[in-house]
Amino acid sequence: MIRLIQGDITKIEVDAIVNAANTSLLGGGGVDGAIHRAGGPAILEECRQIRAKQGGCAIGAAVITTAGRLPAKYVIHTVGPVWNGGHNGEPELLANCYRHSLQLAVETGIKTIAFPNISTGIYHFPKSEAATIAITTVQQFLATDNTIKEIIFVCFDEENYALYKERLDKGQ
Ligand code: ADP
Repeated sequence: MIRLIQGDITKIEVDAIVNAANTSLLGGGGVDGAIHRAGGPAILEECRQIRAKQGGCAIGAAVITTAGRLPAKYVIHTVGPVWNGGHNGEPELLANCYRHSLQLAVETGIKTIAFPNISTGIYHFPKSEAATIAITTVQQFLATDNTIKEIIFVCFDEENYALYKERLDKGQ
């Protein structure tokens, strides 16, 4: 089941929330900053360990840590592409973020997961195209998986919320 809400992803009580991280895994602005601020130092500590072992996280890949003090149990960190005109593999890389986060969730036994609008902030991916990619990729995943019970798109801003609502209402 897909749900849509407008709000702050750090407040959502699900098995896992997804973070729009960067390749360093050392934290940043936007939703990344909000998650580390609200979740406390345990998240960064695990990110550092992952970084020491595998050198950060590639664009389109995903890693998992504790959620520290957040109401969620885990944070799945994925790295979206920086928008650079759209001819540098950005759409496929963004789809990989959703796909790989969901694969990692299934491997971990996660049943409920919340996504922010990856790459549509500091990374400047056009919001309309990003919404289409996010919804299509998640729907394709759900068509072949029966372990994930709920996927929540958490839109922080009005514009993203309206774009998702329009698409989900017409069943995209
Ligand atoms: P990116 O670098 O991938 O673009 P950003 O964090 O800058 O990541 O933005 C991704 C999206 O997350 C944006 O749409 C932004 O509005 C949204 N966002 C920022 N803070 C939060 C939050 N606390 N909860 C949910 N979404 C958030």
